[in-house]
Amino acid sequence: MILAALLFAAHTGNNPIAPFRIVGNVFYVGASDVTSFLIVTNKGHIVIDGGYEDTAPMILANIRTLGFQPRDVKLILNSHGHTDHAGGIDALRRATGAKFLAAKEEAPLLARGGLDDPQFGDRFPFPPTPPDTLLQDNQKVTLGDTTLVAHLTPGHTHGCTTWTLRAAGKDVVFLCSISAPTEYKLVGNPLWPNAVEDYRSSFAKLRALPCDVFLGSHGGFFDLAAKIGHPERFIDPAGYKAHLHRMEAAFNKRVAP
Ligand SMILES: [Zn+2]
Repeated sequence: MILAALLFAAHTGNNPIAPFRIVGNVFYVGASDVTSFLIVTNKGHIVIDGGYEDTAPMILANIRTLGFQPRDVKLILNSHGHTDHAGGIDALRRATGAKFLAAKEEAPLLARGGLDDPQFGDRFPFPPTPPDTLLQDNQKVTLGDTTLVAHLTPGHTHGCTTWTLRAAGKDVVFLCSISAPTEYKLVGNPLWPNAVEDYRSSFAKLRALPCDVFLGSHGGFFDLAAKIGHPERFIDPAGYKAHLHRMEAAFNKRVAP
């Protein structure tokens, strides 16, 4: 518990790295481990995740470095309402004027700025950022020539949202997170009585998603460091399956009677 708090306090994985194209119209604009993605369309741009509060200036600088303008970002999406992915969203909204769309199940946590989290309590607050538009499971979000689909994959948070899109003929998956941090109370948590069932249904749902290009809210999920500079390595269906398998095995061990 203390270790996790220290890791968050030190803003692990928040070192600046150079932005780059991943596949088609999908670009990396995040930090060394805390991710952010820019999706370029013919009607403006979409950003997925805002990092920590102090990642937001890096994301904006990365967008400019790639030759795009923050004011052309029209939509901001989120994986989940934790400080390392939602902390920078308020700053990104103010800098871009973009609309913020998020799962209706995640909206209360985002509006509370991470307070009263059913697992983390009040430990990891961030600038509150209530969504402009609430999304349902399987809802499509279209901007110009690009359509993403929101897949509700609860467990890590109630409204944890895994995004998918097709880019350059590939199925791209932005995994929310299927991790269960050690301090999570999975069984017998009065604030989340069906947490185990939620994880199990999300594992099944994630396994069924077609995936060529595996991305997610942390670079560590998809081995970002080893893929930078090697575009072909981002085509990694096996890495996606292996990650899910590893996380599910760890989860099963955690909740085994
Ligand atoms: Zn998280």
